[in-house]
Amino acid sequence: MNIVIFGPPGAGKGTQSKFIVSKFNLYQLSTGDLLRNEINNKTKLGLEISSIINSGELVSDKIVNNLIENFVSNKTYKNKIIFDGYPRTLSQAKNLDDLLNRYDQKIDIVLKLSVSLETVKKRILERQNQESRADDNKEIAIKRYKTYEKSSEPVLDYYKQSNILKVVNGEAGITEISAEISGLIDAIKGWL
Ligand code: AMP
Repeated sequence: MNIVIFGPPGAGKGTQSKFIVSKFNLYQLSTGDLLRNEINNKTKLGLEISSIINSGELVSDKIVNNLIENFVSNKTYKNKIIFDGYPRTLSQAKNLDDLLNRYDQKIDIVLKLSVSLETVKKRILERQNQESRADDNKEIAIKRYKTYEKSSEPVLDYYKQSNILKVVNGEAGITEISAEISGLIDAIKGWL
């Protein structure tokens, strides 16, 4: 099965993706991680995108669409992908469907982690002490949340129409969220 995990910054997408990866034997495809690798390795693309990422805006659809193609086309990952942080725009969502279709795959479930801006601010500040992400400070977190609010609605509507969207309360504790997600995935697996 292929899963999309969706939600604002600080919703716990990365944490829950890692849980799903280990419990259900999937592979995590985090566009944020791929982009940060480009920046850390000072590649041409990395230099091009670092200021965009650090300002809390989205990089272009074209860039992320190209990045995920390698992953989707790789047989090792076939029907075993959890998309973390992708798609973020309607155009990316449509591109993902086309791409998966081309490789004879589809998305089975979209998990939306819902959290308030207050919680996002708190979590980003906590994360700032543990990881050193240049885009993790309160100001940029607010900007990233606003960017999410602007671009997420059409994506969610798109997935609502295909009946694969499940909303999870991201305000709960990590273990509770994992348990809820587990139940949702088990239910879908029963249908496949
Ligand atoms: P994340 O680690 O998912 O929070 O992503 C960090 C940053 O990378 C975002 O704030 C965006 O600037 C960029 N980014 C990650 N994924 C995408 C995407 N699917 N589309 C556009 N920009 C992205």
